[in-house]
Amino acid sequence: MNIHEYQGKEILRKYGVSVPNGKVAFTVDEAVEAAKELGSKVTVVKAQIHAGGRGKAGGVKVAKSIDEVRTYASEILGKTLVTHQTGPEGKEVKRLLIEEGCDIQKEYYIGLVLDRATSSVVMMASEEGGTEIEEVAEQTPEKIFKEVVDPVVGLTSFQARRLAFNINIPKELVNQAVKFMMGLYKVFVEKDCSIAEINPLVTTGDGRVMALDAKFNFDSNALYRHKDIVEYRDLDEEDVKEIEASKYDLSYISLDGNIGCMVNGAGLAMATMDIIKHYNGDPANFLDVGGGATAEKVTEAFKIILSDQNVKGIFVNIFGGIMKCDIIANGVVEATKQVGLSLPLVVRLEGTNVELGKKILEESGLNITSADSMADGAEKIVSLVK
Ligand code: ADP
Ligand code: MG
Repeated sequence: MNIHEYQGKEILRKYGVSVPNGKVAFTVDEAVEAAKELGSKVTVVKAQIHAGGRGKAGGVKVAKSIDEVRTYASEILGKTLVTHQTGPEGKEVKRLLIEEGCDIQKEYYIGLVLDRATSSVVMMASEEGGTEIEEVAEQTPEKIFKEVVDPVVGLTSFQARRLAFNINIPKELVNQAVKFMMGLYKVFVEKDCSIAEINPLVTTGDGRVMALDAKFNFDSNALYRHKDIVEYRDLDEEDVKEIEASKYDLSYISLDGNIGCMVNGAGLAMATMDIIKHYNGDPANFLDVGGGATAEKVTEAFKIILSDQNVKGIFVNIFGGIMKCDIIANGVVEATKQVGLSLPLVVRLEGTNVELGKKILEESGLNITSADSMADGAEKIVSLVK
């Protein structure tokens, strides 16, 4: 789960990690009010969306007066911001962070990720802050320094100091940088983050080290023990189909192709997307209806697939192990009765009660193409949507 920058900064503040003073605003008036309360000479108006690259896209503006705050706030609020992370459709800005302007001396990068190769948390740092870290990694990889954290010991102050020296933090600010890194690591572990990225971390003219941006991603499997984080969830930032799917406990990820997939088991779902690609098709989604799905769950899954305007055909690929094929068949029939089906539908069933499942589909009178194997099904649906 992602959160907004201002929420990330709230968390950092609680852990003693230094961030500029700031307030969230939902309207232009609130933005002006917040700026007056902050009372800083320079105020920064920042679009709050779950995507980076806002600065370059015009979503971060420096205001030198209250009038300028009003102007920028009305420009940015309601605007659809297109950054390299939003996709071409962009994201509508509904919240602003009104923040104290910072006298930036230099911008750095600090990030924490879970490195699957070493099964450890890794802290990365670079003096090339402000720019995309992917770009730095590609062009000047020697400018990224890493510390692999021992999960038992945690990040040591020795490691943090080494990072601070490697990225050339001025000597007199190293202690502050170390405190910053230790605090950030603590947030990462205690809040079950999968990503924590501060880009930029800055040193200021008045000798401080602080986070000017904050990006956090939390492991959804651990959210049950973080009620405070769940409260930060902003449904406006999420795909409506994915929200609907989560209500029914379906693992659904929206993609940009045109073949809707209904599959049971994450492995089979991945393989299904691969085989569709193999036949030059494009999956519209990843969907795992799970092992013990009911007819109701299957019906909802089918409705979610059909609500995607891009879907031009559906491929149902089910292996009946725990799940029985007749349940899937009933779900498909029920869903098409409820929402109507004018698109081509290819079904490949295998496993428990397969004969019964096939019979239900045949007798339904629906226009269904049945397939004998995964490859056969993929090939058929790809040619049907072309
Ligand atoms: P994004 O990464 O989405 O572009 P950032 O929060 O990193 O957004 O802001 C982009 C740039 O704007 C920063 O690199 C920094 O130079 C400037 N900036 C952001 N917040 C402030 C602030 N409070 N004071 C001064 N400059 C800021
Ligand atoms: Mg940034």
